[in-house]
Amino acid sequence: MTQQKATNITWHEGDIAREERWSALNSTGITMWFTGLSASGKSTIASALEQALINRGSNCYRLDGDNIRFGLNKNLGFSAEDRAENIRRIGEVCKLFADSGTVTLSSFISPYLADRDACRELHDAAGLKFIEVYVDTPLDVCEQRDPKGLYKKARAGEIKGFTGIDDPYEEPANAELILKTAEKSLDECVEACVDFLVEAGAIRPE
Ligand code: ADP
Repeated sequence: MTQQKATNITWHEGDIAREERWSALNSTGITMWFTGLSASGKSTIASALEQALINRGSNCYRLDGDNIRFGLNKNLGFSAEDRAENIRRIGEVCKLFADSGTVTLSSFISPYLADRDACRELHDAAGLKFIEVYVDTPLDVCEQRDPKGLYKKARAGEIKGFTGIDDPYEEPANAELILKTAEKSLDECVEACVDFLVEAGAIRPE
């Protein structure tokens, strides 16, 4: 739990209630949190889903692992502490986006259970839906894909603390959705996400 540093600060409640905002924008906020090994397919699925949702006229935004590390989290590395802070900040950003009425897609390895649970709790406390999507791809398949050559480098000892090789990946215990990309096509994975969002009332059926 990150400590509150600043003192003498007061929460300022705005004049617009969430319901009023969502109803005026005709849009529902929710966070869909993709977790899984590197190369499991998180970014590929989240990007295709984003395209599908935008095509349907849904207000959607995607936050992606490496991209966030170029900006908001450029001062963080891959130690356990930095990984936790990375995910904490993303969780807070997702919460803000979801509150704004956006279908928010986040794709981060987010290997530690406690960090993901903390993001879920943030959303729960704010009355926002948090959907954990486990992109469940076996390590050997990820390693074979290796689109960025990272597993090769990790096996050669050129990258230390690489998830799945010499850093743990803690599998979700209660994921709302599990996507087995070694068995299902990209289109099938996207369809499963769309169906889930319809079921959750976040987007309208077509
Ligand atoms: P991550 O974001 O989890 O690191 P990426 O999306 O960058 O993973 O890479 C996943 C790779 O796996 C891509 O090269 C993608 O084309 C491939 N792939 C093969 N089958 C699937 C599938 N069913 N769903 C998603 N990606 C798949």
